[in-house]
Amino acid sequence: MEELKPALYIVPTPIGNMEDITFRAVRILREAQIICAEDTRHSRPLLEQLGITAPVLESFHDHNEMEKAARIRDWIQEGKSVALISDAGTPLISDPGYHLVVACVNAGVQVVPLPGPCAVITALEAAGFPTDRFCFEGFLPVKEKALYDRLEELRHETRTIVFYETPRRMPDTAVALGKVFGEREIVVGREMTKAFETFYRTTCCKLSDVLASDSNSDRGEMVAVLYPWRPDPGENGVSDAALKLLRLLVTDLPVKKAVRIVSETFGCSRNEIYREALALKEEPDIG
Ligand code: SAM
Repeated sequence: MEELKPALYIVPTPIGNMEDITFRAVRILREAQIICAEDTRHSRPLLEQLGITAPVLESFHDHNEMEKAARIRDWIQEGKSVALISDAGTPLISDPGYHLVVACVNAGVQVVPLPGPCAVITALEAAGFPTDRFCFEGFLPVKEKALYDRLEELRHETRTIVFYETPRRMPDTAVALGKVFGEREIVVGREMTKAFETFYRTTCCKLSDVLASDSNSDRGEMVAVLYPWRPDPGENGVSDAALKLLRLLVTDLPVKKAVRIVSETFGCSRNEIYREALALKEEPDIG
C-alpha cells in the first residue's frame, strides 16, 4: 500500500446516517498517521465502526484551535499525514478548522479537501427553492437586537438563505422570522438523514405555530432555508408594495425624494417609479 503523502486532509463525516461516508474518506482515515477530531470521545465510535482502532487521535476544537494549528502544521512539515474531522459533517462549516487551514496555506503545506456530507447542502437539496444562487449565514446571532439587525440586513437578499439553528433557540428565531419576513416561504429540515427526518414547509409567519404543533420539534438538529426576496413586479415592473409606499410618500415629500426612497427600498427602476409618481400627482386627492 502506498503511504499517504504528508498533507492536511479535510474529511467530512456523516451528519446522522452512518452510510453517508465516502470510500475515499474511509481510506484516508485508515491511512492517516494522525486524526484530529473536535471531540475524540464522540469520534472514537465512528472510527471503530470503520475499523480504525489505533490511530493517533488528537483533540482539536474551538478552544485550542489557535494554539494547536501551528503544532499540527509542524507535524505535516515533518512528514506526517494528518486528517481533520469534526463531530459531524464538513469541518470548517460552522466547525473548527479555519485557522489550521490558514496556517497550512501560509506555510505552503498541502491541504487536501474531500467532498462529503454537509447540512447546508443537504437542506438545499430538499427545500425546493432556487439553488442557482444561495448564501449561508451560519448560526444567527443569539442576542435579540443583533438577531433582528441581521434579519433586517437579509430582508432584501435575492439569494436563497440557509442558516443553522438549535432547537432551543428556534422558538425565538421563528417569532423574529415571522415579524421580519411575514408571508415569505421557509423550509426547516430537522434530523436530516436520520430515522425521524422531518421537513416543515410553511411561511415565516406560520412557522411558530407549525413547530408548536409538533411535540418533537424541540429535539434534534435543524437547518432553515428561506426563500429569496423577490421584488414582486406588477405591470411596468413596479410592485403593489412599492406603489403603496410611493402613494404614502408623495403626499408629504418632494417627488424626487419619494422616488429615491421607493426605488432604493424595492430595488426597482427610478424612471418607472418617477412615471408612477407623476401619475399619482395627477390624482385629485394627492396632487
Ligand atoms: N459541519 C457541519 C456541517 O457540515 O453541516 C455543521 C456543524 S454545526 C456545529 C451543527 C449544526 O448543523 C446543527 O446545529 C444544525 O443546525 C446543523 N445540522 C447538522 N446535522 C444536521 C442534521 N442531521 N439535520 C439538521 N441539521 C443538522
